[in-house]
Amino acid sequence: MKYHLVILGCQMNRSDSERVRTVIDQLGYHWTDVEEEADLLGVVACSVRQKAIDKAYSRIHRWNTWKQDRNVLTFVSGCMLPADRKKFLKRFDFVFTMNELPQFPDMLRQYGVVTPLTVAPDQLAGTARPTAGMATEGGAKPPAEPYQSAAVISAAALTRPRAAANRPVMTGLWQVAASPTSPCEAFVPIQNGCDKFCTFCAVPYTRGREVSRPSADILREVARLLEQGFQSITLLGQNVNSYGRDKPGAEMDFATLLNAVGELGRQSGRRVWTYFTSPHPRDMTPDVIDAVVRHASLAKQIHLPLQSGDDKVLLRMNRQHSVGQYRAIVELIRARLPEATLFTDIIVGFSGETEAQSESTCRVMAEIAFNMAYVTMYSPRPGAASSRWKDTVPLDEKRRRLQAINATLQQGARAANERLVGRTLPVLVTGRDPKHGCLTGLTEGKINVRIDLDDPAWIGQFIDTTITAAATMSLAGEPARATATA
Ligand code: SF4
Repeated sequence: MKYHLVILGCQMNRSDSERVRTVIDQLGYHWTDVEEEADLLGVVACSVRQKAIDKAYSRIHRWNTWKQDRNVLTFVSGCMLPADRKKFLKRFDFVFTMNELPQFPDMLRQYGVVTPLTVAPDQLAGTARPTAGMATEGGAKPPAEPYQSAAVISAAALTRPRAAANRPVMTGLWQVAASPTSPCEAFVPIQNGCDKFCTFCAVPYTRGREVSRPSADILREVARLLEQGFQSITLLGQNVNSYGRDKPGAEMDFATLLNAVGELGRQSGRRVWTYFTSPHPRDMTPDVIDAVVRHASLAKQIHLPLQSGDDKVLLRMNRQHSVGQYRAIVELIRARLPEATLFTDIIVGFSGETEAQSESTCRVMAEIAFNMAYVTMYSPRPGAASSRWKDTVPLDEKRRRLQAINATLQQGARAANERLVGRTLPVLVTGRDPKHGCLTGLTEGKINVRIDLDDPAWIGQFIDTTITAAATMSLAGEPARATATA
């Protein structure tokens, strides 16, 4: 029996989906890239962008048409607004929150599905893998009619009271070990939800209030990934540097956690790059930067969302920081971590943004000279506070502002890349570019590099690479010395 997942949204969803894969693998299903072959089809949804929600609806519409001819089971989980969850109940066979993931095998059993393997829920923790060679015992029982929802657990999820201060108790998802899909890069969730309530963002309504994962769990998972040989580890959360604040006195703060993770990297005795994303400027304390300075295993790359270079827009966005405060953090990073690359997020054409305010963002971009920025045109996100405000900037004008900001970004990024030409840097090989017949990888600062070598045996390893050319957003180089098969 085969399964296929459609993963929408951000890195958090990608990380969550690696845990979904563990649970489904343990049921004895096998992954397929081909949706049409799958018996079990799932969406890891994202309610944050309308486009992502539209994709979830179009997928389930298509999958439900297949039910006329064969047994197909469907589920949806992930980041969902309550309104979307209600609608999904009518379309998917199973709707559950990520925290209910360990109960998914029970939901299938209640539905009458016999899977190739039967596992007890407590086997879902840790890294237990399916026993090879067991035969399929049966097939999926078709639902009585298409579009009928099982709603086994999901109805409870809709009505379940939240814990104190509306903070869900996140125990389920984090009990499940991830099944990383990359040979060298792994993600470790350290928190879920967000307390910041930026006016353009629906995350506090889809994922709920901030909940920190116990540090002992995080450190155990990092230690295991190091033992397994992962070279790149990313600590993930919506607001990583407010880690621990939901459990004052009972949990360490983010800088202490970073120091502990850095120490594990040192003890591993090999090169590892540990990243964290995304921090919030308001919570970016000097001791976080000190930890990155102190530990070689904490990568010298900081992703710090700015969103706008204008104080009035930042206020309307409820970002809780000013341009001046952001600039002071950047000055500290540049002084203490001169080699670090700096990435950011920018929204152009936010509700009420004037041309002059957009130009302020361009000026700040030019001044800071980011290595990379994820620049998006504003669109109202369902559930977010600003979705009730007028979307004042016409699409053409948003496009024009986007181009201006991207042009500014590219100037700064290219200049920084040109300064690397002639230097020899370690590059983590992450894949192969068949079109150019070469390997592709990332520097510690997460700049893409094309390496003049076509030997896939190096994927997942470091190659010391001499940089020979710089483009706007990437580099090219050759192995620093004769490089035999890895
Ligand atoms: S900090 Fe703001 S943008 Fe980031 S997840 Fe929280 S509410 Fe959304």
